[in-house]
Amino acid sequence: MEEGRNQSVRLGGVAAVGAAVECEVLVIGGGSTGVGVARDAAMRGFATVLVERGDLATGTTGRFHGLLHSGGRYAVKDPQAARECIAENVVLRRIAADCIEDTGGLFVTTPIDDPDYADRFVAGCQDTGIPVEEIAAAEALRREPRLNPRITRAFVVPDGTADAWKTVWTCARSATEHGARILPYHEVITVTRDGDQVTGIIARGPDGEQVQIRAQVTVNASGAWAGRIAAMADCRVEISPGKGIMLATNHRLVQTVVNRCEMPADGDILVPIRTVSVIGTTDVSVADPDDWAITRAEIDQMLQAGENLVPGFTASRALRVWGGVRPLFQDHAPAETRDVTRAHAVLDHRARDGVGGFLTITGGKFCTFRLMAQDAVDAACTVLGTTRPCRTADEPLPDSQDRRFYKIGSRLAERERTLLDEQLICECELVRRGRLEEEMARRPAPSLDDLRRAVRLGMGPCQGGFCMYRATGILHTTKHLSAAQANRALLAFLEERWKGYYPLLHDDQLRQAWLDNWIFQGVLDVAHLPLAQPAPREETATGHAT
Ligand SMILES: Cc1cc2nc3c(=O)[nH]c(=O)nc-3n(C[C@H](O)[C@H](O)[C@H](O)COP(=O)(O)OP(=O)(O)OC[C@H]3O[C@@H](n4cnc5c(N)ncnc54)[C@H](O)[C@@H]3O)c2cc1C
Repeated sequence: MEEGRNQSVRLGGVAAVGAAVECEVLVIGGGSTGVGVARDAAMRGFATVLVERGDLATGTTGRFHGLLHSGGRYAVKDPQAARECIAENVVLRRIAADCIEDTGGLFVTTPIDDPDYADRFVAGCQDTGIPVEEIAAAEALRREPRLNPRITRAFVVPDGTADAWKTVWTCARSATEHGARILPYHEVITVTRDGDQVTGIIARGPDGEQVQIRAQVTVNASGAWAGRIAAMADCRVEISPGKGIMLATNHRLVQTVVNRCEMPADGDILVPIRTVSVIGTTDVSVADPDDWAITRAEIDQMLQAGENLVPGFTASRALRVWGGVRPLFQDHAPAETRDVTRAHAVLDHRARDGVGGFLTITGGKFCTFRLMAQDAVDAACTVLGTTRPCRTADEPLPDSQDRRFYKIGSRLAERERTLLDEQLICECELVRRGRLEEEMARRPAPSLDDLRRAVRLGMGPCQGGFCMYRATGILHTTKHLSAAQANRALLAFLEERWKGYYPLLHDDQLRQAWLDNWIFQGVLDVAHLPLAQPAPREETATGHAT
């Protein structure tokens, strides 16, 4: 990677010399696809830079359902997507074990499902190479006692759950170890062109400064925003953003991913993620990928959907609701986003729009991100006139070398070893002080929301009620943030959390929110925290402060 020598710019906390950064492969978008591309390109020896407008995995990748698909969901409706899912399910288990909980998956026929679908499901799995085994409904109920006792058939498939933030951050770490530069908080505002050739981008950095990056190939991996980035280069990518919502309850109601054995529909999957269960999702076409406002009707729909899978679901405490937007690509999109394939596409804009040095990678799933990246970097190799083999299917991510899956009890086991030596910061998610400080040290200016994604701080039943003020204090005492910055970070975090549980405020969740409110307003008086730095004390000629 070469840099100009005239001027000094700060890139994502990394001091760099030169106003224009030069690289071979530039990636736009820091979701799973983008970091996958950056890692793959860097591992093939390309000088690589990635820019992301927010923190990594704050787009759809940080707002998905958490399911490591076996492909069963698409076995009948979308065989191509099903084949990609099962192939990559096997690869991710090999290279990203520490990011995966091997929960297994069940497809169950509930009273509202078409009983004929089950046989088509089995045939679809067999055609697409998904291992499937039918078990008696009674056995399914023995394994998952809370399941609807009226299920009639049950099938076991290799579904699992995946921690998207961990995957993205370890991919980014690996990319950096191979020489890539990862720049969160850099928003692309211009795609630069020289005639019919894309030459790179101009991004707005964290302090509002403009950074120019010149690249031989620019890869647009901006998910549901890919159409907007393509338009900056006068190219056309038709994305049908498909909004889906998910709702988390305050504990694990099931230990296995449970799917309805039916054509993909709304609210048909219940996923146990770490300490909570997540029901989802919906699929509604939206015009703007940043618009995923959630209605009360959608929440009621999810609660009812949960009730169908686990009777009593509506009586559990709903913790938080959020939405994400699928990057669904189809050249001529049908009206219903659920009908768009979940397989992916690499678009070379030289062939499509007569614009060289510019690729878009779009569509796909979180669980196929590695394959998507491989295909995108293969295409970049073609543009650069070289052939370099991909190694990402075999080389494990950092922390996954021992190929041991994450287990729900892992943090507890670790905690028990250090019980008397180390402060516990988050009781719900068992976050140790050492682990938190490690994560703070990795980031130039961590926000509480960044730390939430990195270590699941505040993600459990209390939703930050007890851990956030401790974390804020640590950010300040370890000199990551000044007192005023720490206060602002705490308020920003509380406002962000509020958005997620405001729509759910009733019964037990209302009581919890009231307790949190009392801690933050009553005890800490957060509404009146000083948010500005005190003016520096003036020194007199004699050296005394005035
Ligand atoms: C409700 C829902 C549930 C889902 N559940 C699952 C599931 O269980 N399993 C699964 O495998 N898949 C699931 N998916 C699909 C999966 O989440 C997505 O396909 C995948 O995360 C997309 O990743 P991405 O990197 O392509 O996009 P993103 O994660 O959205 O990344 C694109 C990035 O580009 C950035 N960007 C945009 N504009 C700019 C700019 N101007 N400058 C710089 N950066 C920019 C964005 O901030 C964003 O971070 C789900 C999707 C939804 C919506």
